[in-house]
Amino acid sequence: MSARDERRDEVRGERRDDELVERDARVLWHPYTQHGVERDPLPVVRAAGAWLELADGRRVLDAISSWWACLHGHAHPRISSAIAEQARTLDHVLFAGATHAPAVELAERLLALAPRGLARVFFSDDGSTAVEVALKIAAQAWVQRGEPQRTVFVALEGGYHGDTFGAMSAGDPEPFFRPFAPFLFAVRRVPPDAARLEDALAELGPRAAGVIVEPLVQGAAGMRMHSAEFLRAARALCDRHALPLIADEVMTGFGRTGALFACARAGVAPDLLCLGKGLTGGTLPLAATLATQELFEAFLHHERARFLAHGHTFTANPIACAAALASLELCRLEDVPARLERIGAEIERGLAELGDDARVLELRRTGGIVALELAVEPGDHAGYASALAPELRHRALEHGVLLRPLGNVLYALPPACLTDGECALVAATMRALVRGLVRSR
Ligand code: PLP
Repeated sequence: MSARDERRDEVRGERRDDELVERDARVLWHPYTQHGVERDPLPVVRAAGAWLELADGRRVLDAISSWWACLHGHAHPRISSAIAEQARTLDHVLFAGATHAPAVELAERLLALAPRGLARVFFSDDGSTAVEVALKIAAQAWVQRGEPQRTVFVALEGGYHGDTFGAMSAGDPEPFFRPFAPFLFAVRRVPPDAARLEDALAELGPRAAGVIVEPLVQGAAGMRMHSAEFLRAARALCDRHALPLIADEVMTGFGRTGALFACARAGVAPDLLCLGKGLTGGTLPLAATLATQELFEAFLHHERARFLAHGHTFTANPIACAAALASLELCRLEDVPARLERIGAEIERGLAELGDDARVLELRRTGGIVALELAVEPGDHAGYASALAPELRHRALEHGVLLRPLGNVLYALPPACLTDGECALVAATMRALVRGLVRSR
């Protein structure tokens, strides 16, 4: 092909990319997107490391790991090769009555790395289903142990566990799930406060089914952080009441908090552990719910109907399992938790000078998660509905950085491949966004 033909092809390609947004607007319905006001999704053509490349050639640093999933950065060659190799060998097989090496090996590795006491792995597709499975295991185990009245889970205020019905029930209905309220099951909600949890469990008595938490960091609530002491108290209270503690580490898992799991950082072992997002390094949908042997045994019976009635078509998909194995190997080789801790500290350092800025209510960090809670203008909403979010997102893109504030909380949750220079760019962008805000007081 001549250089001229190539150029013509490129031009044609560009035109196709320009049209992409228009074609998208005609046929697509995007997640968590208000199509009435949000237009022009970023047309992304490729990605490598921390960078997304847009159709017009611009590069944008993905400082939120594409919804907290891309752990090592995009298109890591080790994971890409593992996916290609597995796709050539065994693409998919049903997981009821069949098994395969990638699933067995992945389960063994996860159990070896997870907090002590977890003995079984149930695979599913995404974070929401990992949570559904945990709730169903806890609920059905009570029925099969002869305590069917245990139907009330205790969850944290502001919690987010996904958007399938069980996960929506466990999560706080605000700000997303109000329209579904009549369909959701009742949950007792408490703040991350040991005394309040103790009171709720005492009051529920024999109706309590378990406690579900996002350990250390409540992501969608606005990167709210609580102490390891609270988690340890929650564990002790669950022990005292013989209740399962469900740790939803869909976001915090795989090094985000500076330890492989937030529970491990707090020295706590849950009865059920939910994993997703970074499990495959953010390349393919796969989730896992890890459970104790005791819970597994509540399902062992000669009656078939007492099995766990859950399982999706792509349970334990071999390609996704191979990606997860490659990602776990990278976590080990590159000490991802330590890297993320260092990256978080570096960004936090870059934000320190905002410390006494009146527009910043709080600068907080756990591991590689750094958040700035910003003052809202009079008349604006605090929380997720704040008008700050779309404005800040838009301005961040002008700096070449993808940020997606949670209302008035501007945060970074970057991949573990970030260089010092990239950390500096993220911090400089966040500083510039704050300084560009109209002074509110
Ligand atoms: N649990 C937590 C803590 C999450 O942050 C999320 C998603 O953000 C989920 C569950 C749901 O995961 P998914 O979106 O993969 O269903």
